[in-house]
Amino acid sequence: MEIVRRVHSMKEACRQARRGGKKIGFVPTMGALHEGHLRLIRRARELADIVAVSIFVNPTQFDQASDFESYPREETADADRCISERVDYLFSPPAEELYPEGSQTIVDVTELSRSFEGASRPGHFRGVATVVLKLLQIVQPDFAVFGQKDLQQALVVRRMVRDLMLDVEIVMMPTVRDEDNVALSSRNQKLSAAEREAARAIPRALEAARQAIAEGQRQSDRVLAAVHEVLQAEERLKVDYVELVDRERLEPPTQVQGELALIIAAFLGETRLIDNVLLNADPPKQKKA
Ligand code: AMP
Repeated sequence: MEIVRRVHSMKEACRQARRGGKKIGFVPTMGALHEGHLRLIRRARELADIVAVSIFVNPTQFDQASDFESYPREETADADRCISERVDYLFSPPAEELYPEGSQTIVDVTELSRSFEGASRPGHFRGVATVVLKLLQIVQPDFAVFGQKDLQQALVVRRMVRDLMLDVEIVMMPTVRDEDNVALSSRNQKLSAAEREAARAIPRALEAARQAIAEGQRQSDRVLAAVHEVLQAEERLKVDYVELVDRERLEPPTQVQGELALIIAAFLGETRLIDNVLLNADPPKQKKA
């Protein structure tokens, strides 16, 4: 595996791979790699001949400097993890490589970026879209793999790729969970034992939504009530948002039907966790006469 720090070197390596007729799979990350990231890397490995992973704690997507500074950084361990997954290129540039002095251009996916994560973290998706476009321009992959855990992020990136007519397929992989069903996240490291215990209410609440839909519940407020009931039972958990949304525009559906998602963000102390479940609400079956 080659560790690449410079934009021009990464471009050149990827250009050569493409010239050799190789397909490139790309996984952008902010490091502190866990099994969730590794699944994305394995998927890229299945889809492509060459796998590139980026590790870049992107300053422009953090709305709080303290959050950026305290974000976990595990460079050596991450490189070892990438070697074990047979990654070809680990792109880990310093900030000034991706944001040279005088940079002015930003990417704004206007509507999808406003709600939920975008509302709670102003400017977040502008930072995400801008850095992901830069990375896609550098690597020019055939596939870029993202996690369902950050559903809104994956949708923002998909929208950007469509709107800007980029030649890359965005692949979304299911959320990887710990044994207690809490979604794996670099932020989980910050939870105390009691907060971790309380975090389990989030997957329980998602399961309540799944069950309500599976049992034929088609009233949005009833589904949401089942979710809130689970979350409210956990005192430490402070809900930021809970919503039932469609999977295209992330808006509450007029009817509980088709491909939906239940999305949650909640605070446990200072730590903010997000999670979601994809729901398929088929229309209720017609009873035979
Ligand atoms: P991050 O390093 O947190 O920016 O995440 C990099 C990529 O890994 C994003 O596409 C995330 O959605 C994805 N990811 C993070 N946690 C998980 C998880 N538990 N399961 C699946 N994908 C994940």
